[in-house]
Amino acid sequence: RSLTVCRGRKVMQVPFYRHNLTAADAAAMAAVLDTPFLTTGAVARAVEAELEQYFEVPAAAVCSSWTNGALAVLLALGVGRGDEVVMPAMTFVACANVVELLGARPVFVDVDPTTLLLDVERCRAALTERTKVVMPVHLYGQMCDMARLVETVKAVRDDIVVLEDCAHAFESTFDGERPGRHGDVAVFSFYATKNVTCGEGGAVVSRDPALMERLRRALLHGMSAGAVDRFADAYYRHWDVAELGTKANLPDLLAALLIPQIRGIDASRHQRQARADRYRAGLGGRLRFAEVVPPAVSAHHLFPIHVPPAVRDRFLHELNAAGVGATVNYRALHRLTYYRRKYGLADDALPVSSQWGDGVLSLPLYVTLEPDAQDYVIAQVNRIAAALLPSSPAPLPARSPA
Ligand SMILES: *Cc1c(COP(=O)(O)O)cnc(C)c1O
Repeated sequence: RSLTVCRGRKVMQVPFYRHNLTAADAAAMAAVLDTPFLTTGAVARAVEAELEQYFEVPAAAVCSSWTNGALAVLLALGVGRGDEVVMPAMTFVACANVVELLGARPVFVDVDPTTLLLDVERCRAALTERTKVVMPVHLYGQMCDMARLVETVKAVRDDIVVLEDCAHAFESTFDGERPGRHGDVAVFSFYATKNVTCGEGGAVVSRDPALMERLRRALLHGMSAGAVDRFADAYYRHWDVAELGTKANLPDLLAALLIPQIRGIDASRHQRQARADRYRAGLGGRLRFAEVVPPAVSAHHLFPIHVPPAVRDRFLHELNAAGVGATVNYRALHRLTYYRRKYGLADDALPVSSQWGDGVLSLPLYVTLEPDAQDYVIAQVNRIAAALLPSSPAPLPARSPA
């Protein structure tokens, strides 16, 4: 591994993420080039069959991204002007953007200071007669207690749809159960940095066949038959559109990368777990961590650490200067300019999300992260922490005020 010297210090380049696709994946992609249509077809259907088996659901649909899949789900549910979608303030901005794009309103709820997951009691308090969807996020790979959340939400009104954001949680479990078991619908991402990736992609799973029917149309303009199906026989068949949809299908070219990753995901979960454990063992007591609380088993999509907000950006830049591809996941949504201008929410209405988002940074974590590279990251974090941080972290607010 190449070391360079910068300002008298040896620097190792450790990227934030690296995929582990191989020549076999290139061959699978090349095989699609021999088919007449490069778009959604037999390979995508094969991935859907794998997903149905893995998540034990009657129906799965692949799509072009989490964002486009979630948009199609919300279209299929008829979410629009006047509707509210309740979500944690500590998540990626895609969650709120899909709601805004449809003219509905994202309602931000604070998170638990230990797990950084949606606070169930505060979620219940945020439900109104306008609430159409609740969108829990299995942040960093740790699943929410879905049985408890769904029971709480449905006790208020049983027609509220619970949509699980599983972008970080393909291989996660809670009490031995996978995503999609309690929620009405679960949406996954196969974006470039996710645990299962094809560069850009996603999937939707649900136990509700009627919802999946509507979703399939919403993924393709609302059309009654997909492009491949339309040409399935020698004779052209008309299609019709009864409800509006978007264009969110996943081409076979990209789907070709997914099946080996899905089959190998439970093995790679252990490799991520080992690297997360190694970080926890090696990083000093000056840092705060997102805790994984049993019976959750995390997919460890990310490894976030939290430092005092006043030094976060300095910490990040020192890591970057040392060759470590650290990043931020995430600044709280209500602090982003669009949302601040539109809703003007005060930080003390969402104190845990605000403070976590102002102090969090993510370290490199992937199955090809070698021990020497990880030891280097640990040494750099500890060096910078010793220079910038007090000996132990100050507590986050115990719980947001009611
Ligand atoms: C990556 C991500 C998304 C968006 O996924 P895309 O496939 O890039 O659209 C949504 N939610 C969370 C929590 C994410 O991390």
